[in-house]
Formats: sequence, C-alpha cells, structure tokens
Amino acid sequence: MLGQMMTKPLLISNLIAHAEKNHGGAEIVSVNTGGGVEETNWREVGRNSRRLASALTGLGLGPQARCGTIAWNNRRHLEIYFGTSGGGFVCHTINPRLFPEQLVYILNHAEDKVLFIDKTFVPLIAGIRDQLEHLEHLVLMEGADDEAAKALPGLKFYDDLIAEGDPEYDWPEMDELTASSLCYTSGTTGNPKGVLYSHRSTVLHSFGINIADSVGIKARDVVLPVVPMFHVNAWGSPYACAMVGARMVMPGPGLDGASLVSLIDTYKVTMALGVPTIWLGLLGEAKKVGSELSSLQSTVVGGSACPPSMIETFRERYGVDTVHAWGMTEMSPVGTINKPLAKHGALPEAEQHRLRENQGRPVFGVELEILDDDGKPMPHDGKAQGDLVTRGHWILDSYFRSTREETLTDGWFDTGDVATMDEDGYITIKDRSKDIIKSGGEWISSVELENIAIAHPKLADAAVIGARHEKWDERPVLVAVKAEGEDPAEDEVLAIFEGKIAKWQIPDRVVFTDVLPRNATGKVLKRNLREEFGDVLMK
Ligand code: AMP
Repeated sequence: MLGQMMTKPLLISNLIAHAEKNHGGAEIVSVNTGGGVEETNWREVGRNSRRLASALTGLGLGPQARCGTIAWNNRRHLEIYFGTSGGGFVCHTINPRLFPEQLVYILNHAEDKVLFIDKTFVPLIAGIRDQLEHLEHLVLMEGADDEAAKALPGLKFYDDLIAEGDPEYDWPEMDELTASSLCYTSGTTGNPKGVLYSHRSTVLHSFGINIADSVGIKARDVVLPVVPMFHVNAWGSPYACAMVGARMVMPGPGLDGASLVSLIDTYKVTMALGVPTIWLGLLGEAKKVGSELSSLQSTVVGGSACPPSMIETFRERYGVDTVHAWGMTEMSPVGTINKPLAKHGALPEAEQHRLRENQGRPVFGVELEILDDDGKPMPHDGKAQGDLVTRGHWILDSYFRSTREETLTDGWFDTGDVATMDEDGYITIKDRSKDIIKSGGEWISSVELENIAIAHPKLADAAVIGARHEKWDERPVLVAVKAEGEDPAEDEVLAIFEGKIAKWQIPDRVVFTDVLPRNATGKVLKRNLREEFGDVLMK
C-alpha cells in the first residue's frame, strides 16, 4: 500500500452539519403559511433537523421509509429535507397542484408512511385521506391547531413532534448510495414517474451547482428559491446553500410579483431562482411600484425557455445578470448553465448578449450528446438538431420501481428534448420532440417562435403548436393571450416575426384564447392546445 485517502460517504447530513457548525449564524427568513415572517438561522435549522430525525426514528419508521411533504417553501420544509434524508428516510416532495386522483396514485405508489402538510392543504388531504393505503402519520407543519385536528382526526403537529426529538442526535453513517429523496415527474401524459435521488447524487449535484461557472452560490449570497421545493427539490438550492452557508429567504405561499419584490427589497436578496412566468409577474410589479431591485445580482431561470426580452429587461433596466439554465427532474435537475467564456469578451457587445440567450453548456458531471434517428452522434456545429441524451453523476439510472433496461438506451437517458449543440458544447433547446413542428420536411422550433411572440407588447402569453395542414402536413399556429386592455388584430401580432425568422417559419394564423392550459409545474399543455386548435387550418 503506497498510502491512502479517507473514504467518507457523501451524505446529505454532511451538508447540514457543515452549515450548522460553520455558518450557524447565517440567516434563514421564512414566510410562514399561517402568516408572519420568521427569522432563524442554519444553527436552529440544523438542530431542528436533528430533532426531527430523532423523533421519526422514535416513531419506529424503517430505513428508507418514504416521508411525503405537501408544502410551500418555508423553514419547516427545509428542516424536513435534512431531517428525513439525514435520518435515513426518503423525503418525498409532492406537487399540490396535481389532481387529487394523481396525488392518491403518487402517495400509494411511493408507499408514504408519513405525510407532512402545510395548513393550506388540510381540506385537500381531508378529501383523499381514506384512500391513502400506507399512511401512518399525518403531520401539520405548525404548532397545535384545533380546527385542523377536527378536520383530520389523529393529526400530529410538527412543533410538538420535534419537541420530543433529541437536538444532540448524531447523524448516522450510511452507504452514500442510499435513497435520500423522491420526486415524481409532472408528466403531461400517463401516470407520473418517480425519480429517486441518492445521498451521493445529491451531494455531487450540490458541488456541481456551486462551481463558479455554474450557479456558483456563495456564503455572501442571500438566495430566494421561488422555484417550489416540490419541483425537483427547488432545483437543489437548499442543499447547495447549506454546502456554502448561504443565507436564504423562503417565500412561503405568496409567489405573486408584489410579494416577491417586497421580499427582495426587504431582505436584500442577491440571487433568485425560478421559472420564466414567475419573473413576468415580478418585472411587472417592480415597474409598477418603481422598485430598483437594487440588491439583486442574478436570476437563475429555467424550467422552460427564458425569452430573450426578459434577459434584456433584467440586464438593461435592473443591472441583473440572468443565468439561463436547462435540466429536468431526471437530472436532479441541473444539466446546463449559460455562462460566458474568455474568448467571448472580444466580441461586440450585441453578440455577447446574444450568446447568453441559449441554455448553456454542461456542468462538470453531466455529459450530453445529440443523436440522429439512427442513434448516431450529430455534428456540434450549432445547426444540426438531434435528440438530446445525457448521462452523468446525478442522472437517473432507473425510474422508481422500474429497471435500467426500461429507462436507458445504451447507457444514455433520452431527455425527450430536441437541441442543437455548438463546438463549445452550448445547447439550444428547440422543442420537446413531440412538440416540434414538421412543415414540408423542415423542422420549425415552437420555442423560437414563442420567444419572439412573448415580446409583443399587446400579448400577455403565447404558445405555438403544429396544426394539421393539407399540403405541408403541419404549419405553426400561434395561440395568444391578449394583454389586459389590448385588442390586437392578427396581422399586427404576426408583424413581430418580420425580419426575425425566415418567412416560411412565420405562423399561418393567430388564434386568441383567455388563458393557456398549464400542467402542475407551469408548463404549457401543448397536447390540449393541439386538440383544441389543431384543425384550424383544415378546410
Ligand atoms: P421538469 O422535469 O418538469 O423540470 O421538465 C423538464 C423539461 O423542461 C425539459 O426536458 C425541457 O423540455 C424543459 N426545460 C427545462 N429548462 C428549460 C429551458 N431553459 N429551456 C427550454 N426548456 C426547458
């Protein structure tokens, strides 16, 4: 033996233990569901996490027992993240916006033994509780509450539960491949599928986030995760923040523009993470109330394509750097991040800005490739479009209760996205493969058209679908929502595409609707739009 380094398993408890010990005083601000804002810190969150792990052990839960949460982003939810996983249980975050039948399916499929809920969801759970086959403990994330106890007999209260736990509880050592958390995909068709993360994948993903050319969270940051904790673990931000001891602002249930602007200005938020639709509301409100968003340095935007007009507004009006990111539930979720390279500094400013619009390049730990229909790699020339596949340290190997054979092809996971990749690895997502528009043998990216349409001042929202066409098979149709008080004509809307794309790519028609149908994580349900408007071009 020439010598050796220590082998210590990579555990989620390492993250919270580090934050508690070395960043104990770093503040955690939490908007609580029952109202009011609470200020605590990593030391208290760490102690409460240990109390919770100890209390759950006391309930006699077996290893890797699934503990569900239906909750907003708040301090108790943070403690549940670390307390459940750290204690050897699985933190299973559930999206409250799913239909009740889907919630029942997921809770039974995961065999959740414990369910933590915020007060908002008492009526929802009262309606489905009888159907939850494995549930043993239902816990309200509050102190004692008579009204809730009446609606849900046998209800436990979080504050009482952790009061029984030991704040000096020692985090157990375990295999780093032990399952730590579970999240179901939002699935626009069929039943949702479970993605089971491990301690190892979660810790490595946190390192991946914290690389300077990735999201790069620092101890000096005040991070506002607007992305919900039930959407791919708030993109891993709670773990990544604990790793560096960043301060956090947990926004609770109010995700409207006014609440967010007020939180950013009051608590001097430096970095905020969320999907594009959230930022539309925030920018509208900031303009209305005249906020300068002066503390904000960067926004991390992903989940769907970030319109270039939004990146520009953040940059030109507020001096905020928008970091465009791409990923998915099956990727923990971070796959690519858009940060510039040294050579870009020599380019004209407009060109530098344009390069920041795409979804970025893979973070260390993620491999990407684009494949043609025969599964062969395509050129990385920024033009060839192929099926985007991935593998890496925090990428799914098999869905929950499924096999690798059913999940992967030749060791790669097919993301279902169509993309181009350039010589530096920057990708541009063109579409979900099932949404891309095939017009007379040519492909048209609906994302590209939507990015242009959304900048129209008289539109509030826009989506593009492929509508059936006698001659061309499919042609693009723009489904648009008018901005408040506006009534644009079809021609006026289509004029925005002139000179920005080839003429044959311009949508054939605009149809107006009141609101776009979205799934539980805010993605437009194109299938529904195709059902409704797919035949508007047929005679
Ligand atoms: P989810 O698992 O719900 O997070 O959804 C993942 C999917 O969202 C990806 O496969 C993409 O289709 C889409 N997506 C995520 N981020 C982006 C982005 N920055 N641009 C375009 N599409 C995105």
